[in-house]
Amino acid sequence: MKSIGFIISLSLLLLANPISAHIFPNISSIPSWLNNNTKCAWDQFQKLKGCRPGDRVNGLSNLKTYLKNFGYIPSSPNFSDLFDPLLQSALKTYQTNFNLNVTGLLDDQTLAQIQLPRCGIPDIVNASSSMNSGKPTTRFHSVSHYSFFPGRPIWPANRRDLTYAFAPENPLSDEVKGVFARAFARWAAVTPFTFSAIDSFRTADIRIGFYAGDHGDGEPFDGVMGTLAHAFSPPSGHFHLDGDESWVVSGDLRSAPVTAIDLESVAVHEIGHLLGLGHSSVEESIMFPTITSRMRKVDLASDDVLGIQELYGGNPNGNQSPPSSTTTPSVQERDVSRNGAAPRLLSFWWSPLLVAAVELFFLR
Ligand SMILES: [Zn+2]
Ligand SMILES: [Zn+2]
Repeated sequence: MKSIGFIISLSLLLLANPISAHIFPNISSIPSWLNNNTKCAWDQFQKLKGCRPGDRVNGLSNLKTYLKNFGYIPSSPNFSDLFDPLLQSALKTYQTNFNLNVTGLLDDQTLAQIQLPRCGIPDIVNASSSMNSGKPTTRFHSVSHYSFFPGRPIWPANRRDLTYAFAPENPLSDEVKGVFARAFARWAAVTPFTFSAIDSFRTADIRIGFYAGDHGDGEPFDGVMGTLAHAFSPPSGHFHLDGDESWVVSGDLRSAPVTAIDLESVAVHEIGHLLGLGHSSVEESIMFPTITSRMRKVDLASDDVLGIQELYGGNPNGNQSPPSSTTTPSVQERDVSRNGAAPRLLSFWWSPLLVAAVELFFLR
């Protein structure tokens, strides 16, 4: 089963068609026609505001599909437009994970969070992982929320010097490749891993590519915003980014178009998945499923460091302490921080087939 699954997976990925991604050195190099292209498929959910349990409203089935993709509702051949107990329960779990008021209703804050672009990896993998598990840490007198994939897949002990390569079909400048090198270095600083770029895409441990739409692994990208990227759990090494996004390499993004996405921020997050971390409900953590639009978020938080060091230990040559400036806030502190305007986020995620692939190929 495992080998058959792997062959199928490999075949699918060989069919994938990497593209020339929209990558810009800075925000001023983003063409105006891209600035105006801000329509996201998830904007449709706004019309569901105020729906109540028992209501039957056109579009609720699409919301159920969204929640299914992120692990909140079991898969079903066809979802109805009924606001049923299953949807209410899923919303409560979603609200718990994103530190929202747990109402089971489609209130403003919940809809705002749902519409944010995000990582393609589900928050709940195979109904058995949780991104809000709440592990008390006496070390920081706070609560950590890092998570792992079911079965806690990790890179074998004899593989700590990993290689990475870029899909040859994606012409990337040295500047862009440098963004990924910096992202890898952030994880290397707190783990026993080293990461080296090589030319051979076929033999590299980690294979990075920009793809558009359906790219052969059952997890099609969705154009501007929405899903930004996804990556497989260890030891797969597949790291895919949505080539339709406006990726920005460097500079201040605060005045950028709402669709501008900081490449390094997304790369740091996805590398966390490649090493075995799932999502965290700590909003400041790199492994939080979404990232505020036009914001750069590249520093590992203590939640990220505690999580990855539980899997692999620290860097034998470096400072193993989690960053003090980004210590995990208390639940109360996080609640206070959400009282401001709901942030417009970018993000990353995965979906069921990817999860199924991970489960089938690497966890059994
Ligand atoms: Zn993710
Ligand atoms: Zn993919």
